[in-house]
Amino acid sequence: MKSVVRMRLARLRQTLADNDLDAIVISQPENRRYLSGFTGTGGVLFISPERAVLATTFVYLEQARKQAPAFELVRFQREFVEVWPDLVTEINARRVAFESAHLTVAEQGKLDTGAEGAELVPTEGIVEGFRAIKDRDELDIIRKAVVLADAAFTHIVGFIEPGMTEREVAWALEVYMRTHGAEKAAFDLIVGAGPNGAMPHHEVSERVIGVGEPIVMDLGARIAGYHSDLTRTICLGQPDGRFTEIYDVVLRAQLAAEAAIRAGLVTGEADSAARQVIAEAGYGEQYGHGLGHGVGLAVQEEPSIRQGAEEVLKPGMVFTVEPGIYLPDWGGVRIEDMVLVREDGVEVLSQASKEPVIIK
Ligand code: ZN
Ligand code: ZN
Repeated sequence: MKSVVRMRLARLRQTLADNDLDAIVISQPENRRYLSGFTGTGGVLFISPERAVLATTFVYLEQARKQAPAFELVRFQREFVEVWPDLVTEINARRVAFESAHLTVAEQGKLDTGAEGAELVPTEGIVEGFRAIKDRDELDIIRKAVVLADAAFTHIVGFIEPGMTEREVAWALEVYMRTHGAEKAAFDLIVGAGPNGAMPHHEVSERVIGVGEPIVMDLGARIAGYHSDLTRTICLGQPDGRFTEIYDVVLRAQLAAEAAIRAGLVTGEADSAARQVIAEAGYGEQYGHGLGHGVGLAVQEEPSIRQGAEEVLKPGMVFTVEPGIYLPDWGGVRIEDMVLVREDGVEVLSQASKEPVIIK
């Protein structure tokens, strides 16, 4: 871990130098963890060419000492601003960056007041950009989280029965993952049966699952801070003709995108590969979200794969491919894999079955 931290710090310091910055304040939780190894939920990093400081409270000091040996620890009582003026003056900082997307206006105001003449420079996406490309150790962990989500889905296909509630099924998924190596579920799991599946972020309810209706299940595991994200749509018993038609369209769209993805492709083009199939089938209006999102220390991170986005795909990026069609009063179909961009194409990480009809 230590050498990984050194490499990440070196890279960040290069970015500081390139932008004429004397230091940066890192407050975004996943960025803080990525740069330091510290997993606690309270603390701020202050990084300059010479210093790497982790400022935190008493309750995290011992944990920080263990997890972030490359950092000097500075203790504050309630707020980072207590120690901030000293940090700025000790290095004679003129220009200090902060993460503008992750500080409230009130917090920015306090930093500004205590900055002792230094200029605060808003920045966005610096560490997020580093995190978009996974190294080998990160990929090893992500693969484990993906395999676990696949296994949980296989388990639930054998377990689920008409008459169960969405909540029972979601809990069974969560129990499976937590008893097979997950530190927790990656997010609030989604089980949306019948019309509930028409809401992409449906909250699990007491709805009883019936025969012949679409059931959207969106699940993921977290292992060592890294997440997986998997969606499958199934039907218990014979589906209606509409399900068969829509499922086929979504699956073709997803496979078209996966076939197109490679290093060098622009994210908006990856999105189009799937969107075109759905639009040609006449369901363009029923597919209102982007193709996918990066997955790593956060469930949703860079890159964002959406219409018109112009980021270039690079080897080492891990993201979801998750087209869907949503019809109010009927339900939805979404199919989501995680993929890894490689030099020579793409590796589809998720291996859960895409056979939707479950006859018991
Ligand atoms: Zn998902
Ligand atoms: Zn997703």
